[in-house]
This record gives sequence, structure tokens and C-alpha cells, in this order.
Amino acid sequence: MSAPEAILSQVFGFAAFRPGQAEIVEAVLAGQDTLAIMPTGGGKSLCFQLPALCREGLTVVISPLIALMRDQVRGLQELGVAAGALTSGNTEAETEAVYLALSRGELKLLYIAPERLAGSATIDLLRRAKCTLIAVDEAHCVSQWGHDFRPDYLRLGDLRRALRVPLAAFTATADAETRAEIIRRLFDGDAPQIFLRGFDRPNITLNFAVKDSPRKQLMAYAAARKGQSGIIYCATRARTESLAQALSEAGHNARAYHGGMEAHERRMVEMLFQREDDLIVVATIAFGMGVDKPDIRWVAHADLPKSIESYYQEIGRAGRDGAPADTLTLFGPDDIRLRRAQIDESPAPLERKQADHARLNALLGLAEAVQCRRQVLLSYFGEASEPCGNCDLCARPVKLFNATTPVRKALSAVLRTGESFGAGHLIDILTGNVTAKVRDRGHDSLPTFAVGRDLSRAKWQAVFRQMMGRDLVRPDPERHGALRMTEAARPILRGEAEIHLREDTIARAKDGPAVRALVSDEDAPLLSALKAKRRALAEEARVPAYVIFTDRTLIEMAETRPDTMDAMARISGIGGKKLERYGALFLEVVTGAAPEAQHPQRRKLAGRDTAGLYDALFEITRGLERGSDGTGKLLTLPPATLRAIAEARPGSIDALARIKGMDAARVTRFGAAVLERVQAF
Ligand code: ADP
Ligand code: ZN
Repeated sequence: MSAPEAILSQVFGFAAFRPGQAEIVEAVLAGQDTLAIMPTGGGKSLCFQLPALCREGLTVVISPLIALMRDQVRGLQELGVAAGALTSGNTEAETEAVYLALSRGELKLLYIAPERLAGSATIDLLRRAKCTLIAVDEAHCVSQWGHDFRPDYLRLGDLRRALRVPLAAFTATADAETRAEIIRRLFDGDAPQIFLRGFDRPNITLNFAVKDSPRKQLMAYAAARKGQSGIIYCATRARTESLAQALSEAGHNARAYHGGMEAHERRMVEMLFQREDDLIVVATIAFGMGVDKPDIRWVAHADLPKSIESYYQEIGRAGRDGAPADTLTLFGPDDIRLRRAQIDESPAPLERKQADHARLNALLGLAEAVQCRRQVLLSYFGEASEPCGNCDLCARPVKLFNATTPVRKALSAVLRTGESFGAGHLIDILTGNVTAKVRDRGHDSLPTFAVGRDLSRAKWQAVFRQMMGRDLVRPDPERHGALRMTEAARPILRGEAEIHLREDTIARAKDGPAVRALVSDEDAPLLSALKAKRRALAEEARVPAYVIFTDRTLIEMAETRPDTMDAMARISGIGGKKLERYGALFLEVVTGAAPEAQHPQRRKLAGRDTAGLYDALFEITRGLERGSDGTGKLLTLPPATLRAIAEARPGSIDALARIKGMDAARVTRFGAAVLERVQAF
């Protein structure tokens, strides 16, 4: 086993690298400048944390959010890694401890806030502390065009020049302009090694549904996922509050979060969300940048997001631990009207508005997709893929119908009424519904009057929604959402093109997407018992639940039911320190009994094949405690010596005699038997 892989399993408790991690770790270890673009949840942190442990000296990590830095440092300390942070959130004692550890050369990772880069003190400090690597998290914060711009990130170039050490930059934002700007500002334009990981997040289930009664749809969705962490994104502040209240009344642990709340209230919700494992936050998009929670099990959109980029970013917050996560996006004609109006009413120049309409069209294309949703999503990011089997459209393929005739009838109704009316009135005309408005305007004498009686009102609504979704008609912001025909519709109107639309989806939306349980019914009670244990430990240690173990680790525990410390050690996410600290406690939950006490030296080998050798040597040497005839002077081998032998596997008496604790008497007593067993292993 090479060193990085050994650390991966012994410290982090992971059996293998995730796709892409191994190459990045290798490049960073080799001291190359690197830029890694990986989706959220891809496992970026490991790509600098692990090399930091393998390399000489200190790795400094620049990260934009204090709360997240503190949690990462906590998480590392739980793994037994010497890590610290210097941020304005520190207590004096914490800062003192960091300085002391730095001066002793004990720290492997130091997290600092970008503000600290102003002035030369930090550079001097890092130089004295023998900083040998700079890691930059959320590197897109250096881009002035992005919304996360942090002016202090611009000083990172100076830092690199001053320290003359390699720099490893990480981000989930991949567009070409941002990438070019990162390279220019962080690497002075010298191209680093670039790693670009695919956008797919296969553990996230994609679902869209047409709004029917959205409140009911969301309540049902949340009820089916009771006890799991989730986020519901809403377009307005008022809606976040009323929905959070409804959820609380239905017995959920739920909170609202929006830009109109006091800063301290917002921090509080962020903190609770990070800590607790069953909170639902109902938020405007203001919620997100401040959360870095790997065990968010679901994300729902009460309203249509504004672009595919926002959609992808928002659903991407779910399931970062790799365990299954669910998403649901609700949309309806009102969303389309609202989003169009927001673009039209913005003060942006015309080209910008056109670009924004095109981006919205792409999202609507995703909402009204007729084949695998993930394929449509990934193709937007330029990735080809196969049908995924993990989206609503793979689960229940849509039926298409030839809608050329209804669409032409609808367009003709739009044109004959002077492009001055919304869908409701147009549907009245098409279905021959003589309302007062129809009569007053004389629309009952139009040639299109009642030509659409063959379709129900609901079906016409679906037709109009999809026509809006495909940008064949667009609400006119100056005339209260009256629908205007666009150029894209002309070929259909003229009979030069056909169009197929989805069969009405409204009827099906009621069933809602199927709930996928995290574990089988059989394992569910054990999983909740394990979660309860985790919660108790997290509260006691005042850390977020996932810092103890992630959902993924608990799920594996519930499914494989380890019955020894060795089996426990083989579960993903359980490294040496965590096994020592929590292994026995969780084993007790699984087996229902306290495990046999184990010597700490033996425990250090848990889960490794060396443990088997240790056990064998222990038996053999115990049998020789009083010599081969049982009458000799009592002589034992200390566990530390046993462990050293099991690890070193000496090939000769000389080599055995060099191991600490093997004095002449012990070599004489145990040497031959031990060597024979080692060689047979
Ligand atoms: P990112 O910063 O890319 O969004 P993180 O670094 O927070 O993602 O990692 C997301 C989750 O994946 C964390 O819970 C982390 O412990 C876990 N993880 C990272 N690498 C591995 C791996 N090789 N095997 C299993 N889990 C991993
Ligand atoms: Zn699919």
C-alpha cells in the first residue's frame, strides 16, 4: 500500500478514492500547481487534506466562510489530525493554542480567513511556520464577475509569490471565463495542471412536477421524508414563513430563512441546520452559501428556479455524502410569467435580457423534457450520457401526442384577439365558454370560437404551459401577461413544422415521486437507533452530527451489522481515531451488548490483515509464558512489542531482536515460534 492510500484508510476510513481524487492527490503531492474543478460533494477537501498529511511542513488553507472552516477543523481533529484555524470567530484561548502549535511545528493544516491576507504579518507567520503548500477552497471567489467575489482573494497571488510554494485551487464552478480568471490571478497566468470532473451526481434523484396544489404537494413530500434534513426553496419571503409554520404544525422540525431576517437570526438557523440531522429549512435563495452539510437528504423547489445553473447548484447541496438524496421541483405557468417579467423589468441592456430569456428557456426545456432528465441536464453542461434510471422520466416515461393542430388553433386565437389576452380567456374562446368577457368583446363570433371543444380545459392549460415553456408564446410584461406569439412559432402556424407535446402531467403530479427509503424496512429500526446514538454524542461534544459519522457510514453499519471491532473498522468513514473513540459505542448499538475490551495496541490494527497475525502471535506467546514445558519463569510479550512484530514481520532472529522490547530472554523463549508463525502468514 502506498502512503496516500494507507492514510486514506487509516485516518479517513475510506476504502478507495472517489473518481478523480487519486490523480489530484498525486499531483498535489508531487508539488505541482493544480486547479481542480469538481462538483459539490465530489470530495474536494480530501484532495488537499490528504496530501497535507503526507507532506513535510504546514499546509495553509484559505476558505471564505468562517463557520465552515471551524467545522472542517473540528472534523479533522475528530480524525486525530493536527489542524487549527485563525479566524475572527476564535476565542483568545483557541488563537493562543494555534500559535503555540505553530511555533512547535506541530500543525499539519492551518485554515485562515482571506481577510488575514491583508498586511504582511500573515505571510511572515506562514514563512516561519514552514508552510509548504497553499490550498485555496472555493477558488472562484477570486473572479470579479461571479457573485461570490471576495476582494481579499486577490491577495492570494502575492502570497504564492512570497512563499514560493505550490498552490492547489478547488472550485465547483467550471465555466471557461471563471477558469481563465482563476489562472490569471492565482497562478500569474502560468497554467496549472487542470482537473475537470464530470457534473453528474448520480446519487441525486431528479423530479419535476407541475404545480397542482403546491402547498399540499410539498407537505406530502416532506411527510414522506420525516426526520430527514431538507431544504425547500421558495421565491418569496412570505411563502417561506407560512410554509415553515405549516410544516411545524404538522410536527416537523422546520425553520424559515430569508434575507429579511436579522443577521443573528440567520446565523442561528444556519447553525441549527448544520448541527441537527432532521431540520427542514424553508428558504429564499439567500440560504446556501453558508451551508456545507454533507447529509442533506432532499431539496425541493416550491417555485421554478431562475436558470439551470441555479437549479444545479441548489439541488447539488443534497447528498454530498454520496448516500441517496431526492429532489423535487414544482413549476407552473405563473412561474414562467414571473421569471419572464423579472427579466423584462430588469434594468439590464437588451442583449443581456435576450441571453437571460434564452437561459430561462433552457431551464423550461428541462422542466418539460420528454426524455431522461439527467441527459438533458448534463447535455446543457456539454456532457453526453446514457438514460440514468434515477429520474422521474426514466421511472415513468412520458407519453407524447401530436399537438400540431391544437397549437395552431391556440396560435390563431392569440393572433385573432390582437395578442392582448392571457391563457384563461384564450381557453374560454377555444372551448366555447361564453363568459361575460367573451360576449362583451364579441369573441364568440371569431372563427376560432369553440374550435377546441375536443380537448378539456385542463388539457388546454397543459398545452399553453408547454407553449410558454417552449417559448412559442411569451407573456407581454407591458400588457399584464397577455400572450404574444414569438418567431419560433411561425413555422408551426404556417404548417411547415410539427410539434409533439407531453400528455398532461397534472393528473400524475398528485402521486408525487416515489419515496425511496435509505435502508430496507428490516434495517430501518437499527438505523434510527444508530442515529439516536449519533445525536447524543454530537450534542455532548457540541459538534454537527455528521462530524461523528455521516449518514452514509450509519447506513452501511445498519446494512452490514458489524459484530466485532474488526468488522466495524472496515466500514467506510471509520478511520483509526473514530474507531477508538466511537467504535465500541456503536458496536453496542448493533449487537445489543458491550463488546469485549480490547487492548489499544490491538485496536490500532483493527480491520487490517495484520490484526490476524497479532491475534495468532498473542495466542502462541501466551502458550509459552512459562516455557514449552510450562515450568519456566513467567515471561510475557508487551502488546506494543506484539504489534511492532506483527507490523514489521521480521524475517530473521537478528531482525526480531532489533524490535523494541525483545530482549535476549524473550528472543530465546519466543523467537523460533514467532518467526515460524510470521513466515507462515
Ligand atoms: P466538496 O467540498 O467537493 O463539496 P467534500 O470534500 O465536503 O465535498 O466531501 C463530501 C463528502 O464526501 C464528505 O462527507 C467526505 O467525507 C466524503 N468523501 C470524500 N472523499 C471520499 C472517499 N474517497 N470515499 C468516501 N467518502 C468520501
Ligand atoms: Zn433519467
